[in-house]
Amino acid sequence: MRVLDRRGGCYEVREFVCGRDYVWRPGCVVVECDCGRREVFTFLRSVCGCGADHAEVVRRELLAGGLVEEPPWERDYREWLLGGGRRLLRSELCDREEWEEI
Ligand SMILES: [Zn+2]
Repeated sequence: MRVLDRRGGCYEVREFVCGRDYVWRPGCVVVECDCGRREVFTFLRSVCGCGADHAEVVRRELLAGGLVEEPPWERDYREWLLGGGRRLLRSELCDREEWEEI
């Protein structure tokens, strides 16, 4: 068995007219099994077509990739705050006070 490639998990960002969508793409490991097959495995799938289970190797390789980087929405939120978004934030108490004045 031989590990050919490893890719860590990441978020894919999709742009829409009304905002962004974040889709998690799990990490994967490309393994060449002793039977000769080359397959892509994840945390949830680690058994080759021949029946050999490569769970231990797949887990070790994916964990060796380190921690996942900061989720993209955190960066987007900071940019929004720096771009003036903070002034749009209002406490619910403001609404209550306004309603009480009416
Ligand atoms: Zn195999």
